[in-house]
Amino acid sequence: MYHSLCERILAVEGPGGPVDRLQIVAPSVVRPEEQFAIRLAAVDAKAYASLECDDVARLADGPAEGVGEVTFEAGRPAIASIEGASIAEEGWHRLTFELGDRSFASNPIHCSRDARRIFWGDPHVHTVISDCHPRQCRSLDFCYVAARYLSALDWATAADHVSNGRCTVGKWEAQRRAFSVFDDPPNFAVLLGYEASHKGGAGGDNNVYCRDDLEEFVDHYEEGDARTLAEALPDGCFVVPHHTARTGKHGELCDEIYPGPDLMPVMEIHSKWGSSEFRGNPRALLEVHDGPCFAQDLLAQGYPLGFIAGTDTHATMPSSYGDDSRQLHAPPGLTAVRAPGLSHEAVFDAIRQRDCWAASDERIIIEECIAGDRMGLVHSRRDGDGPVQIEAEIATQTEIERVDVVRNGQDIHSVTPGGESWRATVDFADHADLSEIAFDPAGWFDGPFVYYYLRVTCASGAQAWSSPTWLMI
Ligand SMILES: [Zn+2]
Ligand SMILES: [Zn+2]
Repeated sequence: MYHSLCERILAVEGPGGPVDRLQIVAPSVVRPEEQFAIRLAAVDAKAYASLECDDVARLADGPAEGVGEVTFEAGRPAIASIEGASIAEEGWHRLTFELGDRSFASNPIHCSRDARRIFWGDPHVHTVISDCHPRQCRSLDFCYVAARYLSALDWATAADHVSNGRCTVGKWEAQRRAFSVFDDPPNFAVLLGYEASHKGGAGGDNNVYCRDDLEEFVDHYEEGDARTLAEALPDGCFVVPHHTARTGKHGELCDEIYPGPDLMPVMEIHSKWGSSEFRGNPRALLEVHDGPCFAQDLLAQGYPLGFIAGTDTHATMPSSYGDDSRQLHAPPGLTAVRAPGLSHEAVFDAIRQRDCWAASDERIIIEECIAGDRMGLVHSRRDGDGPVQIEAEIATQTEIERVDVVRNGQDIHSVTPGGESWRATVDFADHADLSEIAFDPAGWFDGPFVYYYLRVTCASGAQAWSSPTWLMI
């Protein structure tokens, strides 16, 4: 009945009901005439692959060549890959597919000779290994099969809990073996990692990510904090705090706990718990801590943190929905990295260099040039540098509501779409006297500093946050 073991894993562990929608995923960046694959999935209301679909999916609009139609078969999970598609015309595109009498848009595609490649992943998936909501979680196999074939991600991490006795040598061996089985560059990458919990005030919950294999996990739940954990890990690992605003688990940092940008290059700004961007944000966690624990608080303290997002799914649905607990109410998160090619080393290096951004619910592209360079960098400002130039091209799957330029916690400039509702352009020069508004030296910065980042908000609620750019004044 099933044509592959992958189909069987999806059908047995996540059998989908009636079709709710068609997911269409193409690479975010393609070259003119380059052949690429379009990944289709007809999914139910919780985003499991439908077992009841016998419709035909066909391209209705868009410049792609070589796109045949797909006929789904009832009884099999409704996933398909159309190989050999291509686009001749440089520019920004979306593809529209029809399924029955409804039509659905793909993620945006940037067809360009020189744009850097973008790879999408979910760095924060829980499986049954976590022993946390184990009745809703699925297997490690489901995690990586769903990431690659259902959510059409480029990379993923099963970041299972280890603290409070939730990991054993055997469970860690299962993680390492899944890493060797499912890591399949250049088609799909597995970043090995796990979740290490800390008490509130000790840096909160941190995920550990490894550039390569890791023989033994390190856990400092009882005695340590984010810094002792990061420093006890071997070279080639970093830690990432998440849901930093969460009551009880808060990721408040102070100079004693902050381990520096090499060991903590980014934070997870959004997950299905909600957004930890700033106090009062409209998609906050259900219960938030009182202290300075939001992204903007940590940036003001002088910690140069880039942004990533994950699901923290406890239904093992990478960058997606599934049977999750009610506390996990926000749209799923995902992370974009820029790299020349796809491998676990490249994903790790891109995040460590903050060459990455965070998104929720959809693959929002941010092509930016801030202070003359990509996001995520620290620049020294010189006399006579002139206004700070902030330029960006934004493309989304759904309708853009607004794009905000954020400087030191303030929204200083906003843009709405021009012609097409899924495209926006930022072209802004900040003439402010930065020495007046810079934060005093703090944290990692030994001089006054200013940061900028971009926030994209769609009418659907989907969002994206560029990693910040810092200027030392
Ligand atoms: Zn958990
Ligand atoms: Zn988690």
